Amino acid sequence: QKRIVVVGAGMAGVQTAVALREQGFRGSLVLLGAERHPPYDRPPLSKAVLLGKAEGSAFDVDFEALGVDLRLGTEAVGVRPADHEIDTVRGAVPYDALVLATGAHPVTLPGTVGAPGVHLLRTLDDAHRLRPVLDAQSDVVVVGAGWIGAEFTTAAREAGCRVTVVEAADRPLAGTMPAGIAGPMAAWYTEGGAELLTQARVAAVEPGAVLLADGRRVPAGAVVVGIGARPATAWLEGSGIALGPDGSVTADAHLRTSAPDVYAVGDCASFPSRRYGRRLLVHHWDNALQGPRAVAANILGGTPLVYDPVPYFWSEQFGRFVQYIGHHADADSMIWRGDAAGPSWSVCWLRDGALVALLAVGRARDLAQGRKLVEAGAALDPVLAADPSVPLKAA
Ligand code: FAD
Repeated sequence: QKRIVVVGAGMAGVQTAVALREQGFRGSLVLLGAERHPPYDRPPLSKAVLLGKAEGSAFDVDFEALGVDLRLGTEAVGVRPADHEIDTVRGAVPYDALVLATGAHPVTLPGTVGAPGVHLLRTLDDAHRLRPVLDAQSDVVVVGAGWIGAEFTTAAREAGCRVTVVEAADRPLAGTMPAGIAGPMAAWYTEGGAELLTQARVAAVEPGAVLLADGRRVPAGAVVVGIGARPATAWLEGSGIALGPDGSVTADAHLRTSAPDVYAVGDCASFPSRRYGRRLLVHHWDNALQGPRAVAANILGGTPLVYDPVPYFWSEQFGRFVQYIGHHADADSMIWRGDAAGPSWSVCWLRDGALVALLAVGRARDLAQGRKLVEAGAALDPVLAADPSVPLKAA
C-alpha cells in the first residue's frame, strides 16, 4: 500500500485526508501541520472567534478514527522529489504521493513586522491576540479595505472600538470589484460607524498612532494589517517544483505539480481554468473544499479528473451577507438587480449574453439560481435580469 503525505493541516489538507479515506484509500496517511493547534477553520476567525462568541473553530474530524497520522508542530522545510522525501523540522518523511496544501501567509506592511501593536489576521493565535484589543475598545487603524479589513472592521465596531480604515486605492476591494460597486460598499463603512480614508498610505507606525504619508496622524492603540495573502511556498524554493510569479505552485488541470507524484491544492496552488481561459489562484474556502476531492481522485487513479470549478465565496460584513460566484473581467457587461443603496441587491456580469458571474448582497436566492446558470453558461435576458422581482432564469 502506498504512503501519502499531506503538508499543511488547514482546510485543504484536512479535506484531502478526508477525501482520500472517503474514496477508499487504505494505505498510510500522514498529515503534517506547522501550527500546534488541532486543525481549525479560518472564516470564523474574523467573525465569531474574534468577538469571543466562539472559543475556536476546530474541524469536527476524528483523525484517529480516520487512520490519519496527524503530526502538529511539524513544519516542512524542503522537498527532494528525486528521493520521494520531504524534510521537516523533525526529520525526513518519505512519500509515494505528496500533497502540498500549505495555504498562504498574509502580506506584511513594510517596516512594521514585529512592531508592538501591529497585528495580522490569519491564524487562531492572531485572533486570540486581537481579542483583548476588542475587549479594551481600543482605537484601531485597519490597513486595507479588502475582505479581511471589512470583516475585522465589522467585528471591531460591534465591540465598540473606534476604527479608521486606511486604503491606498480610491475605493474598497479595488483589486476584485469594479468602481461602480465600490461606491455603495464604501458607504457601508460610514454607516457602520468607521472612518474610511481612501488614497491614503501609512508612512510609519508610532507608539499610539499611525502617521500617514500626507502628514495626518491617526490615533491607534492597535493596527491591523489586511493587505492580502501570498502562497506559503518559500520552503519549496530549490526543490525544482515550479512556482509562478505570484508565488503559487503552478499545478496542471489535474492539480499535479511539475514533480512526479506531487500535487498541490488550496490557497498555495494555481491551476489553469479552461472555463475562464486563464490560470486562477483562488484564496477562498470553497476552493479548499472542492480541490481536495479532485486531488484524492487523481492520486487514487482511474480517469484523471479535471479541476475547473466555478469559484465561489462569501463574506459577512456590516450586517450584510455578501456572496460571489463565477469570475468576471472588466469587459463584461454589468446588470444591476435592485437598488445599491438598499439592504439587498445583486449584480450580474454577462459575456456574449451568458451569465459569467454574480454578486449577491442579502439575496441568497439570486446566488443559488445564478450558480446553476453560471455553471451551465446560460444566456440571460438583460431586461428580465434587471428586475429583482423576477427570478433569474435562462433566456
Ligand atoms: P490555510 O487555511 O492557510 O492552511 C494551510 C496550513 O498549512 C496552515 O495551517 C499552515 O500553518 C500550514 N503550513 C504552512 N506552511 C507549512 C509548512 N511548511 N509545513 C507544514 N505546515 C505548513 N473564505 C471565504 O470563502 N469566505 C470567508 O468568509 C472567509 N473568511 C476568512 C477569514 C479569515 C480570517 C481568513 C484568514 C481567511 C478567510 N477565508 C474565507 C479564506 C479561507 O479561509 C482560505 O481560502 C482557506 O483557509 C484556505 O485553506 P488552505 O488549507 O489552502 O490554507
